[in-house]
Amino acid sequence: MSNVVRSQCPYCGVGCGIELTVNDGKVVRVTGDSAHPANQGKLCIKGATIEQMLTPTTRLTHAQIRTDRNAALRSVGLDQALDHAAQRLNAIRQQYGNEAIGFYLSGQLTNETSYLVTKLCKGLMGTNTMDANSRLCMASAVAAYTRTLGTDGPPCSYSDIEQADCFLIVGSNTAECHPIVYRRIEQQVRKHGATLIVVDPRRTQTSRYASLHLAAAPGSDTALLNGLLHILIRDGAVDYEFIAQHTTGWSEIAEAVTGWTPAQTALATGLTVEEVETAGAMLVASQRTLSMWSMGVNQSRNGVAKATAIINMHLATGRIGKPGCGPFSLTGQPNAMGGREVGYLAHQLPGYRRVDVAEHRTAIEQAWGIPVGSINSTPGPDAQTMFNQLAEGKLKAIWIIGTNPLHSMPNNSTIRAALEKAELVIVQDVYNTSSCLAYADIALPAAQWAESIGTFTASDRHITLLNPAYPAPGDAMPDWWLVQAVAQRMDFELNFANAEAIWDEYRGLTAGRYPLDVSGVSYERLGNGPIQWPCPAEDHAGTVRLYSDGRFATANGRANFQVTIPVEPAEVPSYEFPFWLTTGRVLEQWHTRTRTANVAKLNQRHNGSFIEIHPDDANTLGVSAGEKIAVIGRRGSCTSIVQINPEIMPGCLFMPIHWEDGNPNVLSINAADPISKQPELKACAVQLRPIVEG
Ligand code: SF4
Repeated sequence: MSNVVRSQCPYCGVGCGIELTVNDGKVVRVTGDSAHPANQGKLCIKGATIEQMLTPTTRLTHAQIRTDRNAALRSVGLDQALDHAAQRLNAIRQQYGNEAIGFYLSGQLTNETSYLVTKLCKGLMGTNTMDANSRLCMASAVAAYTRTLGTDGPPCSYSDIEQADCFLIVGSNTAECHPIVYRRIEQQVRKHGATLIVVDPRRTQTSRYASLHLAAAPGSDTALLNGLLHILIRDGAVDYEFIAQHTTGWSEIAEAVTGWTPAQTALATGLTVEEVETAGAMLVASQRTLSMWSMGVNQSRNGVAKATAIINMHLATGRIGKPGCGPFSLTGQPNAMGGREVGYLAHQLPGYRRVDVAEHRTAIEQAWGIPVGSINSTPGPDAQTMFNQLAEGKLKAIWIIGTNPLHSMPNNSTIRAALEKAELVIVQDVYNTSSCLAYADIALPAAQWAESIGTFTASDRHITLLNPAYPAPGDAMPDWWLVQAVAQRMDFELNFANAEAIWDEYRGLTAGRYPLDVSGVSYERLGNGPIQWPCPAEDHAGTVRLYSDGRFATANGRANFQVTIPVEPAEVPSYEFPFWLTTGRVLEQWHTRTRTANVAKLNQRHNGSFIEIHPDDANTLGVSAGEKIAVIGRRGSCTSIVQINPEIMPGCLFMPIHWEDGNPNVLSINAADPISKQPELKACAVQLRPIVEG
């Protein structure tokens, strides 16, 4: 007997709708949901092979504990593990206080789980010691939107792609990282003549149909974007009426970019004056510009400035809140959007509220029925600071849910030291990750996305219901259930009957918020298909784009221009470390390969780590394709396999982030954007050393 279950692809933030055909409790087929607005039935290679990723060999199906880190984890009953977790956490609370316990979450968790942990940590425990791997992914975009538009949240929709006449893609290999979005862009370029400008030190698949590829030097995006705004002003593409009616700070920004002439911009970016002028002319000629960006912008110590500079251009031209227009950050994970909506970053509360705003704390305290003053007004530590505090002994315990920091955090020797020092490490996951195998004192088995009900929010604010297709194996339980079960044993008042009850409480907290209002989005309605927020009533159809009326989410309704000052990466090439190293993803793999490692089709193109190098640099070093090479930086070293790529800038190297063996995070730097605290994962300096065998 087979049935079809609707859900969302659990890989990237495009959030494609899928239909799982289930036969005798097994998913036998996956197809794109033709009614879903993200993909209209299409899937990329990862989405199309989903049924093969559901039964990984690394699955954590039963709880495990160990009392000695040198011993192996041993399986125990779930009740025993939950009791043990609660007892150990309570012992730490009694000795050191609630603030000694940190939570580290993931953009792969449902809205319901992230909301529940937020309530436990920030409401019931009264600390803000929680953060998420969105800190590595979208924190700079969050800060840029908030500073300029008054709140987080991309204003655009995927449907704007078909209405744009010009795409500016900065720091995003969209073709490989957000493939379905790229297919839509490609159609608009090839069939409807839209212009595509791609800014990236590597010429990637994304540039395949580009009208212009700008290989700007790593870290020089802010200079380039300031230079483009200079041209937009100079050549009369600025919408002064929009600026006068809907913004503040124009004179400061206009003054600030005066010096960013094409010549100055070319000098700062390594581009030619002609390239800068050509890009500027394309933007001047456009009526409907869609600017997209991702990790190449965000993962930088100048990330907020870069994202802000993109938004400044849209405010200056009035190309926001209109069809085919707007600044559009592309989220890496399937629910990194939703996680920040429900408040899982260290400074946030549900509904895009902040812990350091008294009115926001009061609203949430009242809604949660906890005493006034329960929520701490000081933002908690960001992800890197949290692990530093663990290493310093200020934090004693960490509860890691749905992510593998040992692989994904920058300069991962510091993460190793932190986990070694921790008195208690709880890892709650679908998989036996390296963090779990090496450091978990308690491992809790989580049900994965296809095994429990919940919601995800995609990059363009669509909320999709995940329906369970088959029962979770062994003792695995939904993440929210596991957290609540431990919290109850710690004597906290959390009594949600199911995921829907959590969602209903959360959506109630957003009623009347602008623009993040999901109060009209019920599970019942989501059963008929995704809904795009804002959706303030049960009879409201959802909202395609934000700020269409020119009213922004600031106190006076005006968007704020912000001056953006370029800052070069924290580590630049030197005599000893002469290469830039930049990192990224490949189409067939997903993050730390927990999901993709066992899917044969996804491992045909690349079967391990590699390092791309320009042929001139390879000649100078005397290395050739397929050769193993040592990559050495100031914080560590690894080996990788040489790939010659004439499309990468000379002096620049590229490594994918996916493989633990050859992981560039042994090399990456802890530097972070001072506002967003997002680490600079995209740039550090290294040397290469050929390996002489024998
Ligand atoms: Fe899944 Fe992203 Fe591919 Fe869509 S584009 S099928 S969400 S991996």
